[in-house]
Amino acid sequence: MYSSEEYKEIEKKIFAGERLSREDGIKLFACKDIAWLGNMADYVRQQKCGDIVYYNVNCHVNLTNICTSKCKFCAFGRDKDDKGAYAMDVEDALALVRDASKDPNLAGLHVVSGLHSDWSFEDYLQRLQALHDEFPNLYLKGFTGVEITHFAKISGLSVEQVLRKLQQAGLQAIAGGGAEILSDRVRNELCPNKATAAQWLEVSRTAHKLGIKTNASMLYGHIETLEERVDHLLTLRDLQDETGGIQTFICFPFLPKHTELGKTVQQTSMWDDLRTIAISRLMLDNITNIKAYWVMLTVPVAQIALGFGANDIDGTIHKETILHDAGASSPTALSEDNIIKIIREAGRIPAACDCNFNILRTFAD
Ligand code: SF4
Repeated sequence: MYSSEEYKEIEKKIFAGERLSREDGIKLFACKDIAWLGNMADYVRQQKCGDIVYYNVNCHVNLTNICTSKCKFCAFGRDKDDKGAYAMDVEDALALVRDASKDPNLAGLHVVSGLHSDWSFEDYLQRLQALHDEFPNLYLKGFTGVEITHFAKISGLSVEQVLRKLQQAGLQAIAGGGAEILSDRVRNELCPNKATAAQWLEVSRTAHKLGIKTNASMLYGHIETLEERVDHLLTLRDLQDETGGIQTFICFPFLPKHTELGKTVQQTSMWDDLRTIAISRLMLDNITNIKAYWVMLTVPVAQIALGFGANDIDGTIHKETILHDAGASSPTALSEDNIIKIIREAGRIPAACDCNFNILRTFAD
């Protein structure tokens, strides 16, 4: 265990199940002993979650990459006239899912899209409703706090009214993206045209009030300070104390390729990725699930992250596009057999689940 006195104090707190402070979080980011950090996070993961690792057999549906927001870290969003810009009509979206549903184990959809310059809220709603009508047994997770804020703005409805309509159309959980770093300084610099930190949090708070579970993320490794990473985690921890509605936390390392920001910012190291996942597990004592998103981390790093506090490895995806536009080197999909193998090799028990962590089947031996 750790030799320095200041880390011994933190270690004692972890073993006693005591909450870590902001100062502890900042110290953890300065910690040079990655093995110790991993051990601490793995200890907490074992206490909270046991040996189950969750995954989804799912299909990502990105309805359009046309987006008005122009976030500096994004390689997916396009103007309407740009090469590669697309917008799915109802039939396109259905065709994608019909193809994915050739897999008899397909359990659900993850629907996330750009903020299209011409679409109304009804356009998004119509596509969601059509997917739900044709595939009523597939769970529907989708739309980030950024999209839902946008829908409220373009429709003149309140966030609550938007969420109720999405819920009526079949939505069962809110996607975790768009949180980036919940700091006005960072957002004003990187993504001033979309939901503010307060608006993103308000969507989650309102969803929780309506009984809709949400997910939360952190995009790190760009212009944020380590203190801002800690503050982001504490903001989510406070919200979770208040509502209890966040199911998973996902760390997204910034992928620089083909982005404006990538001209000046380099990609994070594996060391930083593992450290950030471990510290997230330690600081977020009230969020049960910590996800190692294999698309951004790469499969080998996501597998190692299962020993650094993660208990969720995301899903099969069918065909990922958003992050591959930013140069993700991982495959665009994984087979279920492959995911099961990755989890088993890490010594854990694979469990297929729906978007609300109800277990569909496990593979204990
Ligand atoms: S991150 Fe989302 S909101 Fe920002 S430009 Fe990309 S698609 Fe649009």
